[in-house]
Amino acid sequence: MIPAGEVAPPAAGAPVVGVRDLFVGFGGGRKREGRVRAVDGVSFEVAPGEVFCIAGESGCGKTTLGRALLGLVKPDHGEVHVAGSEVSRLGGRRLKDFRRKAQMIYQDPMGSLNPRQTVYEAVAEGARIHALEGREEELVAGALSRAGLRPPARFFLSYPHELSGGQRQRVVIASALILGPDLLVADEPVSMLDASVRGEILKLLIDLKAEMGLTLILITHDLGFAWALADRVAVMYLGKIVELGPVEQVLTRPLHPYTKSLLEVAPEVGRRKDASVLTGEPPDPANIPPGCRFHTRCPVVVSGRAGAEEPRCRSEIPELRELWPGHFAACHLAEAALPP
Ligand code: SF4
Repeated sequence: MIPAGEVAPPAAGAPVVGVRDLFVGFGGGRKREGRVRAVDGVSFEVAPGEVFCIAGESGCGKTTLGRALLGLVKPDHGEVHVAGSEVSRLGGRRLKDFRRKAQMIYQDPMGSLNPRQTVYEAVAEGARIHALEGREEELVAGALSRAGLRPPARFFLSYPHELSGGQRQRVVIASALILGPDLLVADEPVSMLDASVRGEILKLLIDLKAEMGLTLILITHDLGFAWALADRVAVMYLGKIVELGPVEQVLTRPLHPYTKSLLEVAPEVGRRKDASVLTGEPPDPANIPPGCRFHTRCPVVVSGRAGAEEPRCRSEIPELRELWPGHFAACHLAEAALPP
């Protein structure tokens, strides 16, 4: 029984995040014709302290999925459980507690900060909303320091435009840390930063995970980022997870042609002999192709290598199947990628 006003802590070893058959759509007519299926039947779990990466091209649904995890968009159906509570059922005090424990970091730190607010005010705001115990100045200084802005007092009176992009993102991270979150969802946290500071923010996230035991969900188009940071990765294409598993296994022994294509532009992970450059744009998400939704761009189909399986690719939706322990792929021909 959860006492009123509290978000239940996860039982030891129980997943912090559990997503079951989640659908999130946008737009469409009165009968939902033409509705964009941004997230289309997604299920996964994230363990406490895990770094779970959701990867894919822009428009694949990964940001919508991240927002649904925090209850910022309403699913058409399906469930999201975080720390033992179903997010869509939270209200009142329990929703407020949840908002404190599950924080989101967006890609554009300038857009996340009020240009008229000093760093101190920006970081203190959450502490005031949630009436955190302790001296406010110490809480703000502690959060800034943890986010790598030291000495913290030097930044108290700075405005966002006076800071570098990396410092601004650290202020955003400090604004989340002051609330003592259990779960951080970071949506492309380094994509708008100079290459020179990306590594620093990456290291900060790794350190925070180790120091605070945070559960991190990283949303990125960059598999190199997943490689550096994640324990597991889910690769999304047009609203569906097409491959999911331990990051090293998925990125060094990918089973899905889409993952292989993404790896072609992630040289940090190492070039593959069977990688192929992805051509063309993803199809219109309001008009998803039948069968495997990747078939219009799939190098296996386009090159004729699908052979007798090609009609299946065009007509039958592949299930996400476990092909190695913990390693899932949604491709009719995935077995061909397994070692003999
Ligand atoms: Fe390509 Fe067919 Fe596999 Fe889809 S099911 S990824 S079209 S080979």
